[in-house]
Amino acid sequence: MREVILVKCGELVLKGLNRRSFEDVLIKNLKRALKPLGRVEFFPAQSTIELKPLDEAFDFEAAEAAVARAFGIVGYSRCAVVEKDMQQILPVAAEYLKDELESTATFKVEAKRSDKKFPLTSPEICRTAGDYLIEQYPHLAVDVHKPQLTVHIEVRDKLAYIHGGARAGAGGLPVGTGGRAAVMISGGIDSPVASWMMSKRGVALTAIHFASPPYTSQRAEDKVAELLRRVSLYAGSIKLIVVPFTKIQEEIKDLCNEDYFTIIMRRYMMRIAQRIARQENCEALITGESVGQVASQTMKALACTDIIAEMPVFRPLIGMDKDEIITISRKIDTFETSILPYEDCCTVFTPKHPKTKPNLPAVEAEEEKLSLEAELEKAVAEAKVVWI
Ligand code: ATP
Ligand code: MG
Repeated sequence: MREVILVKCGELVLKGLNRRSFEDVLIKNLKRALKPLGRVEFFPAQSTIELKPLDEAFDFEAAEAAVARAFGIVGYSRCAVVEKDMQQILPVAAEYLKDELESTATFKVEAKRSDKKFPLTSPEICRTAGDYLIEQYPHLAVDVHKPQLTVHIEVRDKLAYIHGGARAGAGGLPVGTGGRAAVMISGGIDSPVASWMMSKRGVALTAIHFASPPYTSQRAEDKVAELLRRVSLYAGSIKLIVVPFTKIQEEIKDLCNEDYFTIIMRRYMMRIAQRIARQENCEALITGESVGQVASQTMKALACTDIIAEMPVFRPLIGMDKDEIITISRKIDTFETSILPYEDCCTVFTPKHPKTKPNLPAVEAEEEKLSLEAELEKAVAEAKVVWI
């Protein structure tokens, strides 16, 4: 019996003329994700893509897991494929779904027929298959309203497909169809979630992390790499750029009023991130900020950092509560890594009384005390690249 995975494309079918290029990007992403599992052929047709493995020992479970994480897919099903002939469809359905049929009490058959020349109508396919399955599994009863199992028979252009129900896909848009943005990634809970959310909207990611050795350790950097590795299971490969930030932080600490330390540091992060983002062909920045979460995330504080930016700054978590963010972080399996207790450059030199309502002229006056242009350029030049 031949098996395939049928993938149902999401929103991308709505995109009119772009549909073809969206489909191409989705196929390219799937190819990359499935490559380690063996050779697969792809056949797009009618808002679905058929994934046909060419090797005997294809790992379907791993493939399904990869498909479940690919953005741009609303649902997928692993199916048996047969000739469009009831004599073949019926025994294959009974055999292919044997375990499910044996372990449920009620079922129904749902048929779809895109080939209108097929001799049976959809209701006739349902009736014939229903009768046949009850003959084979006499314990079964039909329940058309709330069946425990729905047997799907889809008669498509060339072949018929049989499966026991579709699974939900990750939704969103294929990564790469939405341009590229640079995410400012810390080792915390929020920024990996923000990365995932923008990636879900089709945005390819470059990551920027500020490190302040010796105040921050290699383990903290490794933690960021591990977080991004988990995000990359959804987002595809990510270039991580680690920026040395110690000198700049020390100078801010030495020369500026302590209460302004965090806000000024964040403005420097923004300046550097923006330069790197431009070099890396990114069209926007992404952060994991949400209004009011900490002193540097009040509206007034955000305004002071935002004004530095000459490109859009996306903050997908802006209106979310911490527990909502944690729910996503558990779902995408970054939570346990995020809570490992390594230091972040933001927690170095934190002021005792950070300004929650900084006013811009005061911040700018404090910044006047600094001459960090050379350091800023040096930080960009000495940044180190790690491929995830
Ligand atoms: P997170 O959980 O993402 O660390 P947070 O609630 O701890 O967020 P902050 O530490 O104030 O908040 O950081 C706010 C945002 O600034 C982060 O979401 C991230 O986008 C960015 N950021 C913080 N620290 C760094 C860093 N070391 N390198 C790069 N970006 C950072
Ligand atoms: Mg943080």
